[in-house]
Order: sequence, then structure tokens, then C-alpha cells
Amino acid sequence: MLDTLFNPKSVAIIGASQKALSIGNVITRNLLRYEFKGPIYPINPKADEICGLKAYPSVLEVTGDIDVAHISIPAKFAPMAIDECGKKGIKFVIINSAGFKEVGPEGEAIEKETVARAKTHGIRVFGPNCQGIINTDPDVKAYCDFTFTFPEPGHVSIVAQSGGVGAVFMQNIHDLEVGMRFYASNGNACDISIPEILRYYGEDEGTRVIILYVEGFSDPKEFMEAAREVAAKKPILAMRAGRSQEGAKAAVSHTGGLVGVGLSTELIFKKTGILTFTDQEEMCQAAMAFASQPIPRGNRVGLITDTGGPAIIATDALVEAGMKIPPLSEKAKDVLKEKLYPEASVHNPIDVLATGQAPHWRAAMDVLMEEDQVDSVYINFVTPPFVDCESVAKEMAEVSKQRKKPIVCNYMTDKPQWTGTTEILKSGNIPRYDYAEMAAKALAALSRYNDMCSRETGEVVHFDDVDRDTAQKILQGAKQTGRKNLSASDVYTLLGAYRIPAADWRMASNPEEAGKFAAEIGFPVVIKADSEEIVHKSDVGGVKVNLQDAKAVKSAAAEMEKKFGPKGLRFFVQKFMPGGKEVIIGAKAEPGLGHTVMFGLGGIMVELMKDVSFELTPIASGEAKEMLTSIKSYPLLSGFRGDKGVDREKLAEVIQRVSQLVTELPEIQEMDLNPIIAYEDRVFVVDARIIIS
Ligand code: ADP
Ligand code: MG
Repeated sequence: MLDTLFNPKSVAIIGASQKALSIGNVITRNLLRYEFKGPIYPINPKADEICGLKAYPSVLEVTGDIDVAHISIPAKFAPMAIDECGKKGIKFVIINSAGFKEVGPEGEAIEKETVARAKTHGIRVFGPNCQGIINTDPDVKAYCDFTFTFPEPGHVSIVAQSGGVGAVFMQNIHDLEVGMRFYASNGNACDISIPEILRYYGEDEGTRVIILYVEGFSDPKEFMEAAREVAAKKPILAMRAGRSQEGAKAAVSHTGGLVGVGLSTELIFKKTGILTFTDQEEMCQAAMAFASQPIPRGNRVGLITDTGGPAIIATDALVEAGMKIPPLSEKAKDVLKEKLYPEASVHNPIDVLATGQAPHWRAAMDVLMEEDQVDSVYINFVTPPFVDCESVAKEMAEVSKQRKKPIVCNYMTDKPQWTGTTEILKSGNIPRYDYAEMAAKALAALSRYNDMCSRETGEVVHFDDVDRDTAQKILQGAKQTGRKNLSASDVYTLLGAYRIPAADWRMASNPEEAGKFAAEIGFPVVIKADSEEIVHKSDVGGVKVNLQDAKAVKSAAAEMEKKFGPKGLRFFVQKFMPGGKEVIIGAKAEPGLGHTVMFGLGGIMVELMKDVSFELTPIASGEAKEMLTSIKSYPLLSGFRGDKGVDREKLAEVIQRVSQLVTELPEIQEMDLNPIIAYEDRVFVVDARIIIS
């Protein structure tokens, strides 16, 4: 659908100007400088000629067709300009001018008017308040943008909400001597959206890797659908912006309060298969590898080096990035023994020695390309002045062109002296890195994409044994009484309706009844003060555990009555569950998205260590399992030093049931099961809290 926008055969600039520092002038010059392949029509009623091109008073005076028109005149004239474009039959406009939604209600009204008029003419609008698009295709060469980097053709495509960030990425990619395919920064995105651009890049054969920068989502669901579809076909790399609370605040004020910055952005990225980065340089370095290298089948790396120390640093960096350095097979070692110098190391890393010649390097590379136990190749290449490095590079380039397994190279040299060698590596599309850590992280990113593609998320299970009607009635009832923080009996009845296992309980209205119910449940029991005011019960002495008989229950209840006063106070009697492990499951509404669900181990592990995992609803079976396994203290759940561990199947099921519960009852704002007591073969909720809107 966006084909004409990205491949225009002719471009007009409404607001082209002689003034060197005006947007219209910069765009005209950029199109000329980038040698746009079609006609360029500057539109300006007050000029005959702009940048050496014939200028027209209006698009209607242009005789040829116009595929794309820039609008770089003040916002208030945009609707009028759209009408003229409509008359001319133009299908795409890029509104570079600012002064729309981002400036307040007045600008928002102009933006609405502009979109409405564009619709009547069947015009698609890119922007406003944006840079534009670039297509590097030598047959097109469209620089419909006012930035300053002139990229070489290649396979990286960038889409950025913020032009500032997008332009930095483009410049960084350019500095790495990596070619680009498309660039798009669509600012306010009043019509053409990031999901739409992503889909277009997804379809584009020339795009091998996509760099994405978003700060928020106007329609998170649509974004997720598009991202999931595209990420399955090719890697999408994205920065997680708004990670800190301060950063999230900056993003909210920047984007005017769109949905989903911070944690939910990261969860959206994870759920859709976008590779997330927190470091711009690392992301661009990874893009370099994705642009030229195939995706590895796993994380096992074979290293080749001609220098000892850097290979140690590389090995550390790879392992820290989650990669494995497997031993080589006997067969591989035999070949290496035969083909390398006798002093060479035939283990992993393979050391061809500083004096290693082209045939030695080639033999080592061929061995790793054939080796079943290795998924990718890491080259540690220092250019010894006593070796014919160009011949070495030629062998590397040749092997790289076979595209059997990905190769990255930590290239240690004085570039101005070794230009010939550098050029050969470049011609072989070998990504070259100045530091071992960069090369390691780039290779790890390729492997991460492979993991993502083979990630088993499973199905979203629908539990049809739940009693949604009862649950809805409870919420209805609470709403009628104006209660936001549900009573304990409501909470536990609701959990029961969703078959989330809880310790046996009764709700008593006086100490006498508490004693009677305790006997029914069977000792030992726990009693808890229940009233709307008390939130953290144990903090205020509202929990008494391990009560052995009715007398103990009655006196504990009487004590609570003294402390809190009898008004509105009830006594929650519960089976005492000793000896299990405490875990927490929580859920929180995310407007426009559903809910985030949290899992962690109870007590200090959550509060002090922040050792928790998150996922967005709806949670599939594999995702629920991943929530358990991804916390650092997972060994405490799976069993450690003779300990049997807990019922992880059941915990994963509770996570999924919670996911279904909050999805079917979206008025739930917050839900905390804290703690759930988990045993080897069972789990029980012993404390739960639900807040509704
Ligand atoms: P709150 O979180 O409001 O302070 P809880 O009901 O979570 O109150 O009780 C506090 C702690 O007491 C729990 O974290 C748990 O360690 C323990 N506890 C509560 N109920 C039980 C129970 N039924 N069996 C065993 N321990 C319990
Ligand atoms: Mg609690």
C-alpha cells in the first residue's frame, strides 16, 4: 500500500523556498544532492526558480504526475494545500511542518481537519511534524527528508517515531559503513502509522533487518499484531525507551500521553518477538551483523584467533553474552593438527598463531563451517605486519560469501595502513568490530533472534471449568456498595469461581463464630482481621497464625476486636499451611493493553532483590512456564541440594487462570495473591487482594 510513498517517481515540495535555512529549501537540495531519479517540482507562488529548478505557483500548474508532495508551509495552510493536492490527484503527502497536535488543542483541530480533508480526496498523510522518508535504491534515490546523512544502499531499514533518534541511528549505521534500505520518521503519525510501515518493511525483500524506535502506542493491539507478523520474518531491533521512571515521564510528555511506556513497552516487545536493546551502540553494531550474516541455529561459537590475550577477552565476553564455547570434535582436531602449525592450538579457541598464513586461516574456517557442534564463527584478527593479511582476508571473504554460518570479526588493526585488507573484509560482508565485547554482543544478538524464533510459547489455554457468572455478580455487588477493595469473602469466592486453589476458609462475624468455624476447618488455623480499612494485615497485628484450639482462636479474635474496634470488623478463619514455599502472583491493568501479570518468590526475594518476572495477558502455557524459569531464584522452586522443589505445573496453571480471570473481568485494576504457599504436589493461596475500578 505504501509502495508509491517509498518509491516515488516524482516529488513536489509545497513551500520550497530560496531561503537556505528553510525546510522546503533543505528538502529540495537533499533530493538534488541524493540524485533523485524523477522530476522535482518546487511549489512557491513567489519564485520562478528554486535551487536551479523551475518553480510552480501551485501543484495544479505542474503538467506531469506527482507521486508525493511535501507540505512545508505553516500548519494553518495545510488543509488548503491538501485540497489542491486532491485536485491534482496526488495520493501521498508528507507534512513536514510542525504546529499540529503536538502544540495543543488549536493544532490538534488543524490536524483533524487536515486528515478529514485528505480522506475525502483519498490522500494518505505521512506526518505531520516529521522528517519524511528515504529510499536508497539506486533506481529511486528518494531523499524526501530534511536530515543530513546520505546513506549508501544496503539492507537496514529504520522506522522511528522520533526523528531525532532515527537520524542518530541512520548516522551511526552510516559511520559503521553499513548500507541502508529505507528510512522513515513519521512524527505525529496522524494517518500512516508505524505498524503500517513495519508491515511494508516486512514485505520488502531488500530489508533484512529493521531498527524501530517508539515511545508509545496509539493502538497497542494493532502494533502487536504487525510486529508479531514481521518479527517472525525478519529481525526487528528496538530500544526500550522510558526504562527509568524519569525516562517514562519524559516520554509521556513527549508523545502527549500515549499508552504504554516503560515496562509494558518491554513486555510488548518480548511478546511480539522484537529484540530489545538498552544501548544504542550495541543495537547498531548488532544491525551490522544482521544486515550481512545468516541467523545461527544455536548459541555455540567456534573462535579462531592469531593472538592469545584478545581471545581470552573474547571468550569471556561471549560467555557473558550467553554464548557457549564447545570443545571441538576429534575429527575437527585431527584436521587442524594436520593443517596448522604444530604449535598451533587445535582447541576452541583455535589459535593459528601470529604467523598463521592464509591457508591456515582457511583450514580453520572450513573446519568450523563443517563442525556440527558449532553454530557461528568468531574471528579474532590482528593484522601482523609479517603476514600477507590481504590473502588471509580473501579467504575470510570467500568463506563468508558461502553464508553457511554467521561470522563476526574483532578486527584489530591500524585502519589507515591496512586499507587493502579492510576493503577485502568489507567486500566479503564480514561485520568488523573494534572491540571483542562488541563483536560478542552482536553475535549474541543473532543467537537471541534464533531463540526468539524457536521460542515455544504454546497456546493460550481457555479454562472452561470457570464460573464467570458468579465472578461477575461479585464484582457487580461490590460496585453497588461502592467498595473498591473487595472483602476477603468476595475475593476468595471469586478465586473459587476460577478454580484457583485456596486454603480452606470461613468468614466469621464474631469471636464465638470464629472458634466454631475453626473447629470445622480443623486445627491448626490462622485468623485474620477483615475490614475495608485494613490493607496490610500483619503490619497492624491483624494476622495470628498456628492457632491450636478454639480457645486460642477466640482469644486472638477478641484481642483484634479490642485493637480495631468491633465496627465493620470480621474474622477470616483459614487453615494454617506450614512448611511450604511462599510465592507471589500479581496482576495490574494496563489501559488499552490488558493486564501485566507478575510472578516472584515471596518475602525478601521480591521486596529486596526485585527478582520477579512479568508477562502481558493473555498468557500462553509456554509463557507461564517461562515466567517461573526466568527468575533468578528458580532453583529454589525446581529443587536445590536435595530439596524436592514445588509443583511448578500447578503454579503455571494458576498464572494462566489469573490471566483468564483478569481478561474476563477487565474492571479488576489490581490483584495480588501474596503469598501462595507452594508444596511439592499442591499450591494454596493464603492471602489475596483485589481492587476494582
Ligand atoms: P498481609 O499480607 O495482609 O500482612 P497475610 O495474610 O499475607 O497478611 O499474612 C501474613 C503472612 O502470614 C503471610 O505472608 C504468610 O507468611 C503467613 N500466613 C498467612 N496465612 C497463612 C496460612 N494460612 N498458613 C501459613 N502461613 C500463613
Ligand atoms: Mg499478604
